[in-house]
Amino acid sequence: MTTAKVIDGKAFAAALRTRIGEAAASFAAHTGRRPGLAVVLVGEDPASQVYVGAKGKACEAAGMASFEHRLAADTSEAALLSLIERLNNDPEVDGILVQLPLPAGLNEQAIIAAISPDKDVDGFHVINAGRLAVGQEGFVPCTPLGCIMLLKDQLGDLSGLEAVVIGRSNIVGKPMAQLLIDANATVTIAHSRTRDLADVVRRADIVVAAVGRAEMVRGDWIKPGATVIDVGINRLPPEDGKEKGRLVGDVAYAEAAQVAGAITPVPGGVGPMTIAVLLRNTLVAACHSAGMPAPEGL
Ligand code: NAD
Repeated sequence: MTTAKVIDGKAFAAALRTRIGEAAASFAAHTGRRPGLAVVLVGEDPASQVYVGAKGKACEAAGMASFEHRLAADTSEAALLSLIERLNNDPEVDGILVQLPLPAGLNEQAIIAAISPDKDVDGFHVINAGRLAVGQEGFVPCTPLGCIMLLKDQLGDLSGLEAVVIGRSNIVGKPMAQLLIDANATVTIAHSRTRDLADVVRRADIVVAAVGRAEMVRGDWIKPGATVIDVGINRLPPEDGKEKGRLVGDVAYAEAAQVAGAITPVPGGVGPMTIAVLLRNTLVAACHSAGMPAPEGL
């Protein structure tokens, strides 16, 4: 019985953040200002508040400026659009992130479309989605970019490998598939209407699970030696006497780790990569805005 190598996303992300911090310091020395990220939070969704707080702290720790805009849940679309316009024109702001989901009544697509594509560090603007689709340089959504970094670090060349991405969201599944195609993998996107998902997954050398269903992917779906990237974050119901349930991924970890060659844990796998890549994208945006080449190896 084999036991998979654990892909330590936390350590990889920490090393990436150190390199970003060094590049941000050198940017500041050249330009006289820090790279800056504006994060906009509308309403009081508790999970979003935690994410926004974590993003602000990570910016400061990397030597970047963080501009937080916390707006009331009943903020009008016009007021939000006018804030985005101001941030688009602010030379201190290199990246703009509007925390999703937005409260009902605000049109997410219209808000994202208002962000300058050059400051769209989340990579959600249709211009950046289009750039990724046609292979032009642009901002790529942070979570899938973090996943491809882990995969390349683990496997080196992905050419010709069979990859199965489970999930077809604009934020994870679709950009993930495009990054894998760019890396010359043979890619299948599976989703809620896929017939016999277990059989599709069984042919994969690389499995990326981005569904949002606790431990859905079972150990006997995994091809022996495959690399498994688990994007899912699901909270189980609390066990007796506990206030909160455990966090688990979309993959039944204990089972899959007996079969896979390498696997990301939850937590500590993909999660830490997302914020590190957000900082990376902000630094790249700052370099573009200052007419400097983006640092290599980030
Ligand atoms: P989503 O709900 O937008 O998309 C889920 C996808 O799963 C859909 O495309 C759907 O077709 C597919 N799906 C649903 N049921 C299925 C089934 N039974 N079989 C096969 N496919 C099925 O979710 P998302 O935003 O892509 O996120 C997916 C998961 O990743 C969630 O758990 C989310 O919390 C997590 N996530 C983690 C990070 C991170 O930083 N680690 C970032 C983003 C999302």
